[in-house]
Formats: sequence, structure tokens, C-alpha cells
Amino acid sequence: MLNFEFYNPTRIIFGQDTVKEIARYLPKDARVLILYGGQSATKNGTIDEIKHVLSPFYYNEFSGIEANPHFETLLNAVELVKKDKINFLLAVGGGSVIDGTKFVAQAALYRDEPWQILTREGPKVKDALPIGVVLTIPATGSEMNCRGVVTRAKTQEKLSFRTELVYPKFSVLDPTKTYTLPKRQLENGLVDSFVHTLEQYLTYPVDAKVTDAFAEGVLRTLIEIAPDVINKTHDYNSRANFMWAATVALNGVLATGVPEDWATHRIGHELTALYGIDHARTLALILPVLWRLKITEKQAKLCQYAERVWDIHSGSELEKAEIAISKTIEFFESLGMKMQLSDYGVTKDIELLLQRLEKHGQTALGEHQDITLAVSRKILEKI
Ligand code: NAP
Ligand code: FE
Repeated sequence: MLNFEFYNPTRIIFGQDTVKEIARYLPKDARVLILYGGQSATKNGTIDEIKHVLSPFYYNEFSGIEANPHFETLLNAVELVKKDKINFLLAVGGGSVIDGTKFVAQAALYRDEPWQILTREGPKVKDALPIGVVLTIPATGSEMNCRGVVTRAKTQEKLSFRTELVYPKFSVLDPTKTYTLPKRQLENGLVDSFVHTLEQYLTYPVDAKVTDAFAEGVLRTLIEIAPDVINKTHDYNSRANFMWAATVALNGVLATGVPEDWATHRIGHELTALYGIDHARTLALILPVLWRLKITEKQAKLCQYAERVWDIHSGSELEKAEIAISKTIEFFESLGMKMQLSDYGVTKDIELLLQRLEKHGQTALGEHQDITLAVSRKILEKI
């Protein structure tokens, strides 16, 4: 097991009808900005419910944060925060709104050019406004982590940040809020959380038994509940287990004592930025191809994954590893994922994608830093 530090200060308020608990955790002098996306949170009544709970406080609202939140849109929120002397941000939505809110929290107090928060070229970010979350889509784990991803529409660049300053103070996880999710978003959420788990689990083995068992539990749970999540719109238990699994998948617990990969995410971000393909769908394209290219390095862990997650107990280590890859592809396909970029109507420009990876410093990815541009090229050729 590797050395590690674990820190996660986010309070989780889990269960049906828990939105009302927000009021207990807001500072008395809170001036709240509610940030949300398009129409979904308004249509299902969540925004009205929140406004009712916030009635003892001053609040304002900022809507229109798009999927893969745009830097340009978020700057308008920053302006409103400053103008209205906002001192608490309440994100209502999924990864896009939460990540966008985390960016606004930093940019509102940043004195330099805000794009530098993402390029890391300017002065370090020293402070951020406090954030609360009402989660409406299980997928990214952003509700309990300190990461975020923001897209600059003008240059089609999707860049990430990670700073302890943006851990939400609290996150409300009410599984009934997911009842209005369309099938495509449920599929995306299942795949994104599955791949988050795998990017921390399917690395070279370091005998981190507890962390491995946690990860295997999350993976088995996602496989078990996926059919009910997709087919039953008002099934509380499958949605509750989905919501908690997606949070645990990326709240830091699964990274304790293990090496992390993240090559699939980094390459996937370039595909989303250039071609607008849903985040999860890019991951499903890349992960199996990456595993096949790195099967020698990953064979032992793939075999453990085959045995403990997919219950495959016969064959050689290599055969089990190969079956595990096929099972993963079948699972992705059962969730509507395509296995070729052309299936999304995209003609890829490999040279441009590689240029983007290089520009963004993604030239030595993976837990061994051996996903060089040459390996990324091979991956891009095969998708
Ligand atoms: P999302 O982009 O936040 O939301 C996708 C869509 O789902 C939106 O169009 C939204 O519509 C709709 N939606 C949300 N809740 C709904 C509900 N309850 N009912 C009906 N529709 C609903 O999805 P996401 O997968 O959570 O986030 C993806 C983003 O997170 C990407 O930018 C990705 O790169 C990033 N990400 C972040 C992390 C992290 O750790 N921070 C990790 C992985 C990925 P409305 O706009 O109408 O609400
Ligand atoms: Fe993700």
C-alpha cells in the first residue's frame, strides 16, 4: 500500500426530503446565490423548494450554466456575485453546475485574469467563497470532492482544477431528485462513476486490500443496480444506492493508498471539447482500448477485477483479463455507449487531438506516466 493523506470536510445530508436541512448549515448572515443549469431543476420543483427554505435569507439566482460549463457563462456569474455582495454559493444540479460553481467561488476572489485559475500560469488561488450543493444527478462525485472541469467555448479547451478550497461545506443528496432524469443522463452517470472507480482501482497492484474491496463493492453495486436505475423511474432504493455509489467513487476514499490512472479522463476531455460528445461516452470509447494496449502492465489487476467483480474463475490470468475487458464493453453497450467515434458522426482529427494533449501537458499519462503521445496516438487510431 502507498503512503497517503486523506482529507474530506464535506458534510453529506442524505435522503428523501432533506433539502430543508440546508437552512441549518448556512451562516446567519448568508447572502446566497443559487446557481443552476437549464430548466430541469425548475420543472421538477427543486428551485421553488429551495427558495422556500431560503426565505429567511437574502438570495439571488443565476441560471443557464450549460453542460460542460463555459468559462464565458461563469464570468457573468462572477460579476453578479461581486455586484450583489454574495457570500455563499448554492449549486443545484450535476457535475457541470457544481464544477462551474467551484470555479465562480475562486474567480470571485481572484484578482488576476481568471483563465489562469485553469492554466495555472498566474498567481496561486488563495481563497474561495463557501459552497453548498443540492445534487440532481449522480455521476461525477463533484458534490464531495475538490475538483472541477471548465470549458472555454471560444477556444474549445476543457481544463481541470483541483484545490481544497472548493470542497462543498455540505451536499444534499436526495435520491428522489433523480426521478426526472432522462435515460441518457442515467446511462452517462452509471458509466462515469464506473470509470472513476476503475481509474483508481485498475492500476498496478499494491496490496491495498481495504481500498480494493471498497472499489470492488462500488463496481459490483453499479452493475447490479444498473437495470433498475434505467428501467424503473421511481425506484427509491436503486436510485439511493446509485447516488451514494457515484459519490463514493470520487470522494477520495478509493484513491487511498493506491496509484491513480486518469489517462482515460484526460484524453476524453479533448474529445468532449472538440466534438461535444458527452463526457461519459468519451470514457467508454477510450478505456477498453487503453486496457488492451496496456494489458501486460495491467494483467494482474485485470485478473483480480475479473474474479472479484465479474465472477470469472476459469482460464489463465491473461484469459481472465481479456474476458474482463469484454465484460466491461458489454456493460457499456448495455448502457447505450458506442465503441467507435464514427458512431457519434464524428470524423476525428488525430493530429489536432494530439496537439491539444501536448498543449495541455498531457504527454505522460497513466499510473506509470507511460501513456505518451505515441500511445495516445495508438488509442485515438483505434477508437
Ligand atoms: P451535467 O452536465 O451536470 O448535467 C447533464 C444534463 O442533465 C443537463 O442537461 C441537466 O439539465 C440534466 N439534469 C440534471 N439533473 C437533472 C434532473 N434531476 N432531471 C432532469 N434532467 C437533469 O451532468 P454530469 O454528468 O453530472 O456532469 C458532467 C460534467 O462534470 C462534465 O463537464 C464533466 O467533465 C464533469 N466532471 C467533473 C468531475 C469532478 O470531479 N468535478 C468528475 C467527472 C466529470 P439542466 O441543465 O436543465 O439542469
Ligand atoms: Fe468523469
